[in-house]
Amino acid sequence: MEEYIRNSEKLKISGEIAAGVAHEIRNPLTVISGFIKMISEKDSAFSQYFSIINSEIHRMNLIISEFLILSKPHVLNPKAHSITEVINEVILLFESEANFKGVSIIKNCKATHDVVLCEANQMKQVFINLLKNAFEAMPTGGTIQFDCINLNKNEVLIVIKDNGIGIPSEVLKKIGTPFFTTKENGTGLGLMITERIIEQHKGSVKISSNHPRGTCVEITLPVYSD
Ligand code: ADP
Ligand code: MG
Repeated sequence: MEEYIRNSEKLKISGEIAAGVAHEIRNPLTVISGFIKMISEKDSAFSQYFSIINSEIHRMNLIISEFLILSKPHVLNPKAHSITEVINEVILLFESEANFKGVSIIKNCKATHDVVLCEANQMKQVFINLLKNAFEAMPTGGTIQFDCINLNKNEVLIVIKDNGIGIPSEVLKKIGTPFFTTKENGTGLGLMITERIIEQHKGSVKISSNHPRGTCVEITLPVYSD
């Protein structure tokens, strides 16, 4: 028991160190990108290199952000939240991007028992990651369907379906493993974070695809009743 506590304490400390390092890397990155911007405005001879440097700095920032999310090991402060409201807030964040990219988000939340004990920010992160993937799978627009139903009064099922490029079966086997991405600018951490957060909220995630006709993500979460 004592050994177990000591190990979990060690894990906590190494998580904190990792998060600290990630934060510290951000500052020099901001300085570098500031100077790059300054130099590129003065000299356009190397503009294509500057744009590569900038997009690589952007990618490093993305990886650090996702790494910081991953380094938070637990659901620290769960509270009762309506999952429908969490979904509504996230959809709102994507409204202008959806308009701009010709994506319609159709929501059909029928669950009457939809209160989940969760950390709202982590749960939002789940839907943000899934919506981002759906958008990226539909570069010329399409439809994302959000359904929310009760399997029974103790479980809520959230289904997010897009009609994008879909996932071939050989890719489906690999997704969720760290750094696996098929995108030029992907980090390959989004689904791993999603799965981790849902697992920590005692739920489950299932991803299926009718390649090349879209992707379906099903999330089941326990309903909270006091
Ligand atoms: P990233 O988005 O950075 O690539 P993710 O972990 O979010 O990392 O996704 C891993 C891979 O899973 C993606 O690169 C893509 O190949 C595939 N994928 C995930 N969601 C979808 C989706 N909705 N439609 C098509 N492919 C998807
Ligand atoms: Mg992603």
